[in-house]
Amino acid sequence: MVLGNWKMNGLPASLGMLTQIASAAGEQAPLIGIAVPHPMIAAAAAIAPELVIGAQDVHERRSGAHTGCVSAEMVKACGASFAIVGHSERREQFGETAAIIRDKVRRAQEAGLRAVICCGEPGSIRQSGSTVEYVIDQLAASIPPDTDAASLTIAYEPCWAIGTGATPSQHEIAAIHDAIRIWCSREYEAPSVIPVIYGGSVDPSVAAELVRLPAISGFLVGGASLKTDQLLSIIHACHSGQPNKLSEQTSFQSS
Ligand code: PEP
Repeated sequence: MVLGNWKMNGLPASLGMLTQIASAAGEQAPLIGIAVPHPMIAAAAAIAPELVIGAQDVHERRSGAHTGCVSAEMVKACGASFAIVGHSERREQFGETAAIIRDKVRRAQEAGLRAVICCGEPGSIRQSGSTVEYVIDQLAASIPPDTDAASLTIAYEPCWAIGTGATPSQHEIAAIHDAIRIWCSREYEAPSVIPVIYGGSVDPSVAAELVRLPAISGFLVGGASLKTDQLLSIIHACHSGQPNKLSEQTSFQSS
């Protein structure tokens, strides 16, 4: 799968890009999802029904006196099929704790959304050589013990690689993805259904290299998801060799 994260970028006029992506992606495209800003979810879902549309965040409560916030049920009703939760920018800029993120995963799943939970270490942790321990602790604290594994995706995104142009080595990425998969297989009954995707300065050449790693199920793409040619090149690097079943990806689709 290739998931894009537009962050706080784009306007309704930018959504034309989604129809271009949908029509140019080709028969053998992987599942393509785009997390647009909240006000554009409904229009994005209407303009590009071939893609799956997501939210970049949801609130940890179902409803109530939380001015300016948006619930999982709201984004689902507007056409979202997934929600990113625990992005490092939310953790750093908004002080989101593991307990808050755990509740966001709950709210997303109970609303019928796939929760794409982000994890990843800061540069200092990488330098200390404790990436695996840090990331597994982060996941253990941020995923509810009774989570629905069938509607969970894990995005490994080292904080130091996001928007910097720097990426871990293939060896480092393979090691952490393997560790996440082993941890999932210990924690959940159905580990094979949890995709583990990589994010952090993914561009077409990074995608072409990393797509060969068996432990990688796809990519979460920030900056490059705003550029049609870049995103299409990433999608083409991920051609699955299977007929495009986007419209049948029911686990990601709105109902
Ligand atoms: C992200 O924000 O999730 C991300 C991976 O950003 P970028 O691709 O720009 O590093």
